[in-house]
Amino acid sequence: MKKDQYLIEKNGNNYEVVIGLEVHAQVLSNSKLFSNSATKFGSEPNTQVSLVDAAFPGMLPVINEFCIRQAVKTGIGLNAKINKKSIFDRKNYFYADLPQGYQISQYKDPIVGEGSIVLDLPSGPKTIGIERLHLEQDAGKSIHDIDPSSTLVDLNRSGVALMEIVSKPDLRSPEEVNLYIKKLRSIMRYLGTCDGNMQEGSLRADVNVSVRKLGSDKFGTRCEIKNVNSIKFMQMAIEYEANRQAELLEEGGIIDQETRLFDTKKNQTRSMRSKEDAHDYRYFPDPDLLPLEFDDQFIEDIKSEIPELPDQKKDRFIEKFKLSPYEATILVSDLETSKYFEKVIKNSDVKLSANWITGELFALLNEKNIEIDQSPISPENLSKLINLISDGTISGKIAKTLFVEMSKGDKDPKKIVEEKGLKQQSDPKELEKIIDKVILDNPDNVQKYKSGKDKLFGFFVGQVMKASSGKANPKMVNDILKKKL
Ligand code: ADP
Ligand code: MG
Repeated sequence: MKKDQYLIEKNGNNYEVVIGLEVHAQVLSNSKLFSNSATKFGSEPNTQVSLVDAAFPGMLPVINEFCIRQAVKTGIGLNAKINKKSIFDRKNYFYADLPQGYQISQYKDPIVGEGSIVLDLPSGPKTIGIERLHLEQDAGKSIHDIDPSSTLVDLNRSGVALMEIVSKPDLRSPEEVNLYIKKLRSIMRYLGTCDGNMQEGSLRADVNVSVRKLGSDKFGTRCEIKNVNSIKFMQMAIEYEANRQAELLEEGGIIDQETRLFDTKKNQTRSMRSKEDAHDYRYFPDPDLLPLEFDDQFIEDIKSEIPELPDQKKDRFIEKFKLSPYEATILVSDLETSKYFEKVIKNSDVKLSANWITGELFALLNEKNIEIDQSPISPENLSKLINLISDGTISGKIAKTLFVEMSKGDKDPKKIVEEKGLKQQSDPKELEKIIDKVILDNPDNVQKYKSGKDKLFGFFVGQVMKASSGKANPKMVNDILKKKL
């Protein structure tokens, strides 16, 4: 058993959790998958609905090439097989927010086949298999909480392109799910194929969970928890569901394969319906759409547009800048952070830059609850601050004060140093004066120090720093003090 393995214990029996995710990622595109309506989030209800999206009789879908390119791009980013021929099917079901009476999706022949995502676990990398990625349309939205006597329907989302990215059942803990979603989101953001905004519903997942006795090589029966829209909720739902299943098995019960809902208020899952099978949906190829076919050249063209992705960037950061894998992982996990870092190190020491960004800057962003591209301190000015430390103009301690000052409004740190007189005291004559006075003022401690109480050295350093209002160059203070004492 590995040390960091996630297990559920019941009556002394250990259960392993097995998880597979079906992630729905909204394609970053100005228009919908089969119509030219806009996809902008947060618009007035039913203002982005064409006759196609509202499924008026006689309307025909027209495929949006840009969305196809986005899906292929994502597939390449997931190291996946791109299928040169894929088919759009009708998935039939009835629901008030689905005016067509079916969803156009892909079933047996998806646009993207098997691929993989590498997770950076504390114990090392772990590869999670991707089963497939297919394209489908989103449904509209039923609104139950505006009118007390009826359900309202907003069709703005109807027809928006989604990529459904299905993982193999390779995930083994809530933490792995956290890393998986973050890595997938990061890859798609680098690619510009999905904004990954979970608050706006651009990324949500159906979470499949089963448990099995530790050591068993057969998977248990899974339950699918529908439409979970935050990583925290996914983790809570998995924890609840795994415990529920393990308990049931311990009591001699059996798990029904069913579709469940996660109730975020009660923090529990509950049964919604027994799992429907594919034949319940009566899938058949959509007669309004030809099979989607493209050639090698089409794929090659898209390949040539693929930017450097997080894993490659991480390798480069480790190789070229000698960062630790841990630092590199943090700095590449978000595209904007990696850009910020690269701007800072253009003119500054790499190690110091990494420390300041992952330390003070992250803390500041966290506190203000903002993203790095809204940082009140520009990369240029952080770079200047770091250089002031490197060249000995200011001490690390003063740098922190300066940083706080800069966070109140992006100001050139050099100017602040001049205005506030924060410059480090590095003139040996001046320092000697201060040190002489400290020695003169503390004859008792000098005596004790000389008779072997080495620890008192820190006391003298402290006194000098205090007398200089924290501005004395610590290294020089050390050197001079040693000599004088
Ligand atoms: P469906 O549409 O019926 O949900 P999919 O193939 O789209 O089927 O998705 C099945 C998902 O369930 C995949 O993510 C897969 O990894 C996962 N899965 C399959 N078997 C298990 C299992 N025993 N335990 C947990 N997850 C599973
Ligand atoms: Mg499913």
